[in-house]
Amino acid sequence: MIFKSKAMNINFIDSVAFLTFKELEKYSFVRHGYSTRLGGVSKNEFKSLNLSFSVGDDTKLVNENYDIFCSCLGVQRYNLALASQVHEDKVTKVSKKNLNKIDFTKFEETDGLITSESGIVLTTFHADCIVIYMIDISKKIVGLAHAGWRGTVKNIAGKLAKKFITEYNSSFSDMVCAIGPGIGKCCFEVSESVLTYFRALNIPNNFIQFSRDDSRIYIDLLEVNKILLLREGLKNENIFKSDICTMCNHDMLFSHRFTGGKRGTNSAFIFIS
Ligand SMILES: [Zn+2]
Repeated sequence: MIFKSKAMNINFIDSVAFLTFKELEKYSFVRHGYSTRLGGVSKNEFKSLNLSFSVGDDTKLVNENYDIFCSCLGVQRYNLALASQVHEDKVTKVSKKNLNKIDFTKFEETDGLITSESGIVLTTFHADCIVIYMIDISKKIVGLAHAGWRGTVKNIAGKLAKKFITEYNSSFSDMVCAIGPGIGKCCFEVSESVLTYFRALNIPNNFIQFSRDDSRIYIDLLEVNKILLLREGLKNENIFKSDICTMCNHDMLFSHRFTGGKRGTNSAFIFIS
């Protein structure tokens, strides 16, 4: 594995590796990361740190992976607030009183999570779909969202930003955002019908790329999410994008497209420590 990125660091805790944004590491009250395939106990297509119970992996091994994940973060399973993810645009505010006392809590029909309370580990699941990290660096609020192409088109990014404003009265000048990792514009080929949804957003065409003979269409999902966040009111200088494509880096990260769906799941997390 060769790791090359200008935007992200790779951090090892024993044999477990997490990706982190250099720009978010500046905020010491926040811990965030993106789990890789490295350091877990699952086998074959789930090798090795699969954190999904719903992809056909052995439940006992997934539970062991959760224990490894929590141990690396220095948290307990009951600290985890998981998004169930249905490719929609609902953002749920999480409080300790909504969390189970023994095991993790799964929030149904939710693709975005937000909290102001320390020790609640917001967690989303990805295997090509984009993750959006958001922080109010002044009021100390954190948010996380899962944005596949459907969630992107439904503007889950903008809805997450709106939740900061409506729930916590955040100011755009205090809001810092990081987008990705996820499938890059190098690999995210779409059909004409999917492209139609993106054209309906009325954003500049610089998110679309065509192959040399124009027969293939590629979309830059990260850029689309950035444009939607700028439109919402976030500042250009406060939005950072990953330069790591999950499909190009399928040996290190789970990629849905590369494997045709036979794969485990990476997790993104953020919490106030
Ligand atoms: Zn790629």
